[in-house]
Amino acid sequence: MPSAHELTIAAPDDWHLHLRDGDTLRAVLPFTARVFRRAIIMPNLDPPVTDVALCAAYRERILRAAPPGFEPLMTLYLTEQTRPGTIAGAAACGFVHGVKLYPKDTTTHSAAGVGDTGKISGVLEAMQRHDLPLLVHGEAAGAGIDPFDREKIFIERTLIPLRADFPELRIVLEHITTSDAADYIAGAGERSAATITPHHLLYSRNALFDGGLRPHRYCLPLPQREAHRRALAAAACSGAASFFLGTDSAPHARHDKESACGCAGVFNAPAALGIYAAIFEQAGALERLEAFASLNGPRFYRLPVNRERITLVREAEAVPRCVAAGGDEIVPLLGGGEVAWRVRR
Ligand SMILES: [Zn+2]
Repeated sequence: MPSAHELTIAAPDDWHLHLRDGDTLRAVLPFTARVFRRAIIMPNLDPPVTDVALCAAYRERILRAAPPGFEPLMTLYLTEQTRPGTIAGAAACGFVHGVKLYPKDTTTHSAAGVGDTGKISGVLEAMQRHDLPLLVHGEAAGAGIDPFDREKIFIERTLIPLRADFPELRIVLEHITTSDAADYIAGAGERSAATITPHHLLYSRNALFDGGLRPHRYCLPLPQREAHRRALAAAACSGAASFFLGTDSAPHARHDKESACGCAGVFNAPAALGIYAAIFEQAGALERLEAFASLNGPRFYRLPVNRERITLVREAEAVPRCVAAGGDEIVPLLGGGEVAWRVRR
């Protein structure tokens, strides 16, 4: 049995990560690579990573910036122009592990996303045939939809029909925020899974307005009511195979966050594993952290569990106040504060 102050687990992976490119990539990647061995890399660059050649070039840029031993697991960006042949090439190349569906105009760099999933049915059929997972940003788009209802409406209108049409397709509903999503995934069978972020486990929507507007806590999908946050914590801490770690760490320059029209996205890589450990500790579920962080993701993606093990110790670790990236700075989640758990070096 693990002691209350120390926990040794298989090295974890991050199953949802934004690294961006250039100076930002070089600035943020070390924070991920110091605790996670692998990460599913999101393809929403500008322009987006829509084919295997662009993906191979982006992977090379990541590997050049990465310390030895870190493995980027690449994804393609799905558009209405994606062809089944692209899927066949992605499945054969060995480094593409999923294809990301952004409903058009829902989040950062989603303008090239899919407005009508009917237009991608041939591509989804190819993904099902090649057993390449579909990774979903689960929000319904539309100016008339209340932002706090977008995930629930997406599940009802898009995901449930898609699940029925492609029963063999592996689907990850990314960064879930509601009890509706947790309940849906818990009952959707072994080919459906969800990632859960540290910030959606840490914060309800109250945290966006805590003493004033808090731009560095603003992300999409939005954090929800406290009852939903509790449901997410229960799902993560259950140890159930269909829930696993995905930080959705998404850096933006400080001036783009502290703005009259601030960007959505939380840079949580420096604090993520410490936050997850604290959530599991509060739930009395530390013995299930390994399943969530290190076992369930590889099982779903059909990859080996990392052989290396790490030891988490219950000792405070400071989170940097800000991180320099080229001429900009990026403010981390809990920047200037601390987390209660750290990896023993
Ligand atoms: Zn994301």
